[in-house]
Amino acid sequence: MHAAAFAALGMTGWRYQRLPVPPALFAETVVALSAVGLRGANVTIPHKQAALTLADEADPAARAIGAANTLTFDGGVLRAENTDAPGLLNALGVSVHGLRVTVLGAGGSARAAVWALLDAGAAEVTIWNRTHERALATARDLGALAARKPPPGDVLVNCTAVGLGGRSSEADTLKQLALSVDVLADCEYVVDLVYGDGRTALATAAGRVGARVVDGLDVLVHQGALSFAVWTGRPPPLDAMRAGARAAGR
Ligand code: NAP
Repeated sequence: MHAAAFAALGMTGWRYQRLPVPPALFAETVVALSAVGLRGANVTIPHKQAALTLADEADPAARAIGAANTLTFDGGVLRAENTDAPGLLNALGVSVHGLRVTVLGAGGSARAAVWALLDAGAAEVTIWNRTHERALATARDLGALAARKPPPGDVLVNCTAVGLGGRSSEADTLKQLALSVDVLADCEYVVDLVYGDGRTALATAAGRVGARVVDGLDVLVHQGALSFAVWTGRPPPLDAMRAGARAAGR
């Protein structure tokens, strides 16, 4: 995705490199990356909280969510940002102001989604999670509601790992998410953060009952586009990034 963006803009000196890092080496790796003159890094599971802790400066989203996915090395200052939150809203592409939103899941991506949706003026954000206590804790922490069953709403956002690997059927997916077809049919928009080869079972089921579907790859592209803009100061070439991400996923 980033390589496609560099190519589209003729940025020949730029490179985006995947680097697996064990948690015990995360802090010293960040220091080393800064020392060798890198511009920045995306950070994913399980390093997002540690990234925020290490930062000298952080944006309000990262602070409220408690996690950062974007680090920028800025002349000796380490800046942390959370582009997952605005990336989700950009991928959705409509205002959530006044809407009722149901978020499935209470892990890291759910925290980012709940914060983003409330910050953007959603009338009500309700969290459902397999482990209800986590839904309650996240809801309390961020000012959302928690429910034992996903309630009907305008927007549904799947922030669970259900559907990852593409193995579950539609019926099994709905069962794991405690979702009825009626609740799904009530949604105008369904966002599934999970991505992989092709459409997820949830996205397929949602499309069939008439919801507008935003898939996980689109959310990935939008958070990546925001990171790209932070590092390079240039408008991200979204179409090239989308094509790059889709090609990489095949
Ligand atoms: P996480 O912090 O590990 O949270 C996982 C969540 O999934 C928890 O709420 C967990 O519930 C729930 N869950 C796991 N297995 C389940 C099952 N069988 N049935 C019902 N619920 C289940 O992970 P995360 O970082 O939030 O990521 C969640 C998903 O979003 C992953 O698939 C990840 O790839 C995807 N994601 C996509 C993007 C993107 O840009 N598209 C960005 C971030 C994450 P419990 O609390 O009960 O365990």
